[in-house]
Formats: sequence, C-alpha cells, structure tokens
Amino acid sequence: MTRFLDVPATSRLVARTGVARFLSELVDTLRADYLRWGEFDKSPRIACHSPEGVIELMPIADSRLFGFKYVNGHPVNTERGIHTVMAFGALADVDTGYPLLLAELTLTTALRTAATSILAASALVHPESRRMALIGNGAQSEFQAIAFHTQLGIDEIRVFDIDKAATDKLVRNLSTMPALKIVRAGSIAEAVRGADIVTTVTADKAYATIITPDMLEPGMHLNAVGGDCPGKTELHADVLRASRVFVEYEPQTRIEGDIQQMPEDFPVIELWRVLQGEAIGRENAAQVTVFDSVGFALEDYSALRHLYALAQEHDAGVDISLIPPATDPKNLFALVGESSTHRTGAAPVHANFPAFAR
Ligand code: NAD
Repeated sequence: MTRFLDVPATSRLVARTGVARFLSELVDTLRADYLRWGEFDKSPRIACHSPEGVIELMPIADSRLFGFKYVNGHPVNTERGIHTVMAFGALADVDTGYPLLLAELTLTTALRTAATSILAASALVHPESRRMALIGNGAQSEFQAIAFHTQLGIDEIRVFDIDKAATDKLVRNLSTMPALKIVRAGSIAEAVRGADIVTTVTADKAYATIITPDMLEPGMHLNAVGGDCPGKTELHADVLRASRVFVEYEPQTRIEGDIQQMPEDFPVIELWRVLQGEAIGRENAAQVTVFDSVGFALEDYSALRHLYALAQEHDAGVDISLIPPATDPKNLFALVGESSTHRTGAAPVHANFPAFAR
C-alpha cells in the first residue's frame, strides 16, 4: 500500500508540529541532504511551456529513494481564481520501485521554498541582519516572512505588492506574530531602502526588473525566489553583475534563474559548495550576495522524506491501493478477469521500510 497525504492531512501534520518548528526541522533535513550532494542522481527539470505558464516534472534519486514533483507556474491563474503554483509528488523505494508516498506538494512547496531560502541565507547574510523587504505578497509570502522571522531573527519586514489586497492579506495573516513588525511600503524602492535582506517573490511571466542597481546597499542579501522560468526574471542584469551569485543546481538555473540573462560564463557558485566548506560564501561585510532560487528537485525530495517520516510517526494520511496487491504478481489479469476477486486490504508496506524514518 502507498501512503497518501492530501491537503487536509498535510495541513494537520504541519499544524500539529507548528509552522516554525516544521520549517526548522525541514531546514535540518535539507541541510543533511545538501551535504551529501554527490550521492544524488541529478538533472534539470523537464518543462512544458505554454503562452500562460509552465508545467514541470522534477525527478531525483539517491541509492535508496527516488522522488519526483509535478509543479506548474501560471501567474494568470489568480485572475482565474486558482493558484499560481500547484504541486504533488511521490517518493519510491529504489530497490523495488514501489511507491511509498503520494503527497500534495502545493503547501509543502511553499514550506520547502522558505526553508531553502533560510538554508542559503544562513550561510550568506550579514550576521546582524534584522530588516527584510518582502516584494510580492502572494501565496509564498507568509512562509518566507515566518521563516526569516523565526529562523533568522528578522524582526522588521517591509512589504510591497502591486495588488494592495495581497498585502492586506499578508498583514492580516502575520498579525498573530506581535514580535514581528510589519511596515507597508508605498513602492519597491521604499520597501528596499535600509533592508539587510530583500526577498522577491513576485509572479509575472516577463523579464521584470523588480530590483534595479540603484536600490542596492552595501552588505545586502537578495533572496530572489520569483524568477524561476525562461522569460521570467526579477533582477536587473547590473544587479547580478554587482553581486556574488549563488545557485542551487547550475545546469537548471542557467535556463530558469535570473542568470538566464547573463553570458554562459557568468560566475556563479552552487550552494552545496558553500555548505560543505568548499567555497566561500560572503567574502566581506560590504559585498552584495544573491541567492538566485529556482527550486531544485533535491528540496522536494527532502520535503517528501520529511513528510513520510512524520506521517509514519503520527500515523497521518491513509494507505491507498495505488499498486495492485502482489498476491500473484504474474496474474495481473486476475484484477479484471472473470474470476476476479478484487482483493483489498493488503498489508501496508511501510513496516518494510523502517530505514526511511528520520
Ligand atoms: P502568487 O501569484 O500567489 O503571488 C505573486 C504576487 O506577486 C502577486 O500578489 C502579484 O500581485 C505580485 N506581483 C507581481 N508583479 C509584481 C511587481 N512588479 N511588484 C510587486 N508585486 C508583484 O504567486 P506565489 O505562489 O506567491 O509565487 C510567487 C513566485 O514565486 C512565482 O513566480 C513562482 O513561480 C515562484 N516560486 C518559486 C519557487 C522557488 O523555489 N524558487 C517556489 C515557489 C514559487
């Protein structure tokens, strides 16, 4: 049987743990997986583009587990009353190919993206960073705000979105965190002025220039999350030229990230090299650093692995018959033949995979 975590089951798991603790544990899981970067079979994601968006598949595996995510990106969707980003994914046992977990990944993507931003920022930001600008106040934004507040000590966030209702919603959702000061800015430049960290998480299928060189201040860290697809960027090219740029997986980010605007030999550093101590992160206090985030399959693998362990620990979700019972593996026809008994209630396989617990 395959464990199935739908949106309500995942929401309950996260609520039970608490968003801040869930993020903190996910950062630990991500770090552990980034530290064994060389063990993974990696490839850029496979993308199907259309005029309004993109649908992508993101596979990855190590010697024990295979994971993949289906995800889309359609900035026009909010006008249609549906999400810009929607996702689901699976985790399978490499030895047998058996799918262990099928899970919603829309909520989980927002959590893993914020956790990845923290993983990068904790290695790159100026240690005294306290103030962040948050440009783009849509679905991802609360997760970014809570992550930077609870995991990195950011206590003031200056927010801006071209859609005032999105900012209203963000301010409302964060009102339960009294230690976090939220300041509404009248423009991007106003939000960014004096910020230690700038998070851009806008959605527009365009070569946008949310951040321009005149907005940069010494020592800033840019957490550029929204430019994640060919033809979709957030940073002016001169911002990249003025900064030390870090990426998740270079072959994918060259296609999808803000660096798609730059020549092929534009220097970037993969984050795992900094985490493993192979490369220097920030070189000095005045340097501007950029995390050109696009979202890499390893992060979804970590999130799926984390969810699976939590689901086992709390017996969350349900077991579904995604794969026929293995009573007589060569007799698949029995499922539809005259003598079909349509067996149900096969023993859950999770007990056979204890090694995947956290
Ligand atoms: P969303 O549609 O819910 O929110 C995007 C917000 O950006 C909207 O409120 C919109 O009004 C605002 N916006 C658009 N143009 C703007 C501008 N010029 N200035 C200020 N605000 C502007 O989308 P979301 O789910 O929050 O995703 C945001 C972006 O992040 C998307 O582009 C998505 O593809 C990307 N994303 C990246 C990762 C990653 O791993 N890097 C993960 C998830 C989502």
